[in-house]
Amino acid sequence: MNVAFQESKGSPRALDAIAEALLLPSGIDGIYARTAAFEDVVNALIALISRDREPGAEVLRFPPVMSRRQLEKSGYLKSFPHFLGCVCCLNGDEAQIRGAVDRFEAGEDWTPGLSAADLVLSPAACYPVYPLAASRGDVPPEGLQFDVASDCFRREPSKHLDRLQSFRMREYVRIGTPAQIDDFRRRWITRAQEIAAQLGLAWRVDHASDPFFGRGGKLMQVSQVEEALKFELLIPVRSAEEPTACMSFNNHRDHFGITWNLRLASGGVAHTGCVAFGIDRLALALFATHGIELPHWPTAVRKALGI
Ligand code: AMP
Ligand code: ZN
Repeated sequence: MNVAFQESKGSPRALDAIAEALLLPSGIDGIYARTAAFEDVVNALIALISRDREPGAEVLRFPPVMSRRQLEKSGYLKSFPHFLGCVCCLNGDEAQIRGAVDRFEAGEDWTPGLSAADLVLSPAACYPVYPLAASRGDVPPEGLQFDVASDCFRREPSKHLDRLQSFRMREYVRIGTPAQIDDFRRRWITRAQEIAAQLGLAWRVDHASDPFFGRGGKLMQVSQVEEALKFELLIPVRSAEEPTACMSFNNHRDHFGITWNLRLASGGVAHTGCVAFGIDRLALALFATHGIELPHWPTAVRKALGI
């Protein structure tokens, strides 16, 4: 894959300088209020990505929470327990809930009164789509394609603006034969680079791995790279030395097919793959490259975004 960055007209600017105008601090690392200028670019990016939706893709928008049971069954606790956010609520009768509120009002810790609900914060937009597809029966010969999005949460607090705890993810998801997944991913790796070029961004595509938990996770990372299961489109947002993954291209092979009993009409287990767009990271990459003044952005970039 590419090692050098493809050139762009702009150059990465110090993120701190642009932060003030775009993302307002909340007091919690990785959680920001987004300004109108930032959201204008976010919405333009979303529209740009929608224009590339392939025919037949079913559009689904998921809430920022999903079934805890579904995420457990997907193997998330084995791979990424360190990222997981679980919804907790005050359960019990009125007296028990009142007890927790009283503890809060007395300046004590009220949180022991919380218990885990049947919801988790979605860590990626595509998790809910596999059980949904499986509930409809066999995968047809032409396969399935979905266009999904959700706000996502990952417990990775950081001072870096490009590493958020709450961020927006858009994904195209493919379900079908191994060859259909390969084709889909190849198409999207090409298309994604065309989008980066249109947006005047510098980029390179490289092999990647997920930050699996613990010592065992290191082995999984190595085999993920060896088997070319994940690629990322990296953009020098913070620095060229540590470029930021703004899109990823994943082949899950039969992981979700086996988990959810997704069957091909022709027999056998369905394979799955997805292409994920980190919307907040892409918006940040645009500001880092072209500056905070939208009217000063290159005309071709503004035209591509319709702004
Ligand atoms: P992943 O499932 O890790 O490949 O994530 C999919 C996409 O979401 C990545 O390509 C990033 O653009 C984006 N993303 C992942 N983690 C974060 C984060 N902590 N903050 C902002 N965007 C993220
Ligand atoms: Zn995905």
